[in-house]
Amino acid sequence: MKTVQSVAIIFKDEHGQLLEITPDTWKTMLSYRQGNTAPEAGGLLLGRIILETGDAVVDEVTTPLPQDRRKRFRFYRSNHHQKILDKVWRLSSGTCNYLGEWHTHPEDYPTPSKVDWDNWRLKLLDPKNHYEMLFFIIIGEKAIRVWCGYRANASFSKMAEYGKENE
Ligand SMILES: [Zn+2]
Repeated sequence: MKTVQSVAIIFKDEHGQLLEITPDTWKTMLSYRQGNTAPEAGGLLLGRIILETGDAVVDEVTTPLPQDRRKRFRFYRSNHHQKILDKVWRLSSGTCNYLGEWHTHPEDYPTPSKVDWDNWRLKLLDPKNHYEMLFFIIIGEKAIRVWCGYRANASFSKMAEYGKENE
């Protein structure tokens, strides 16, 4: 029997940085798990960093759009995601921002590819981004892995991972 996820999922890294993902957002990302045949999926993480604590909260994600190109082992995100982000940002009066990216991998325990690392580094170096850190999630078949990227020194730390046994 599967339990219904009703509490936020929380990840933590070795520096004590917390990332909280709201239940609906979590469910949305997990619904794109690839199984045996589905192509990769992905999108942007949208949310905020709480001023008092420095904790990050993902409130929303974008999901695959018709303009994206989805392959079994690659996901090419179109710039329509950026348009959604701009709209969400405006509607939230600037409180909902870009917090990073998520995508799926057709493997049990996902490992970032060289393309992933290169993309993530570019995001960290992009001066347009608002926060001092960004988060990168890969949804695998048996585990969900999250990396926190720090913009100050363009470094990454792996956050505690979430396995299927937790579901
Ligand atoms: Zn990847």
